[in-house]
Amino acid sequence: MSEIVFRSDVTVELVRCSAADSDVVFAARVSTVGEQSKDVVGQEDAGRDRGLIRYLMRDRHGSPFEHNSFTFFVEAPIFVFREFMRHRIASYNEESGRYREMRPVFYVPGDDRRLIQKGKPGAYDFYEGTDEQRELVQAEHRRQAEAAYESYRRMLDAGVAREVARGVLPLSLFSSMYVTMNARSMMNFISLRTTSDDSHFPSFPQREIEMVAEKIEQLFAEKMPITYEAFNDAGRVAP
Ligand SMILES: Cc1cc2nc3c(=O)[nH]c(=O)nc-3n(C[C@H](O)[C@H](O)[C@H](O)COP(=O)(O)OP(=O)(O)OC[C@H]3O[C@@H](n4cnc5c(N)ncnc54)[C@H](O)[C@@H]3O)c2cc1C
Repeated sequence: MSEIVFRSDVTVELVRCSAADSDVVFAARVSTVGEQSKDVVGQEDAGRDRGLIRYLMRDRHGSPFEHNSFTFFVEAPIFVFREFMRHRIASYNEESGRYREMRPVFYVPGDDRRLIQKGKPGAYDFYEGTDEQRELVQAEHRRQAEAAYESYRRMLDAGVAREVARGVLPLSLFSSMYVTMNARSMMNFISLRTTSDDSHFPSFPQREIEMVAEKIEQLFAEKMPITYEAFNDAGRVAP
């Protein structure tokens, strides 16, 4: 049997990026100075640009935040991709279970993954769980992944098409994709897929997509620090 890999983390790499706070500024300035907006980029004083970005964010003038682009390479379990791809204002390309043999890489909840939910649908709180529960969760994930991948391989070895054989693989299987988003859409994603005390509208995302969102948030903060600061100060609501 192929060597099975178990992961408790996710991959997010910024592979291409055209994004800066100044992209927001020139897009907004065309409103008042037309063609001269091309010249004002880089000539405005930083304080004024910051003020403009904060005003746009606060008053939810969203379109100036669309003139930029982030392309991420993501590796995560399929159940995370199902949630991710609900975010329609993005472009996606994912590896194919029809055209390639799926690699035996599966998610297993790590030691720090909270296991017990309390509360009601849409507003759960999560708690640690016991050592026994953790051992059970990890052992069951491993057992099912190994059994499923063995079935998959048996069918492939018998000459069955990949698109038929893949039906036995669980949602914990890792997949890979490129996703391209602009900052406005990304702020909507971060707003919905992270938990934060600073959020005006608390969200309760699944921890595994939050792990992806946290990495995306960090890269966003590095590339567009003024926009990121304004986003936080406006209650982490996408404009
Ligand atoms: C905690 C949580 C729990 C969830 N639970 C469920 C669930 O149980 N079942 C389920 O099916 N989904 C669930 N979702 C998915 C959720 O309903 C959204 O599909 C997902 O969060 C994408 O958000 P979005 O539509 O704002 O993003 P995008 O699709 O990226 O859209 C961005 C924005 O563009 C606008 N927009 C995009 N498309 C349209 C359109 N067709 N019409 C009008 N405006 C549009 C909207 O303003 C939208 O906010 C859940 C999401 C979260 C965060």
